[in-house]
Amino acid sequence: MKPLVKMHVIACRDFGLDCNAIMKGRNLDEAVDAAIKHGVSMHGQNVKELQTPEKRAEIASKAKQIEM
Ligand SMILES: [Zn+2]
Repeated sequence: MKPLVKMHVIACRDFGLDCNAIMKGRNLDEAVDAAIKHGVSMHGQNVKELQTPEKRAEIASKAKQIEM
């Protein structure tokens, strides 16, 4: 049996967007990076506005941990 791996997930919907995307990462930083990349490529958001410590903290605050 494989050991459970903790993943950090961020749902795009939690940011008020009508989108079913779920971004995952093995750690919080990775999940935040994936969420920023998604916001920029899929929703035309400004990468410079997302890549601030304040915004990263806000995104990170919406992350949940799951085991898979
Ligand atoms: Zn989205």
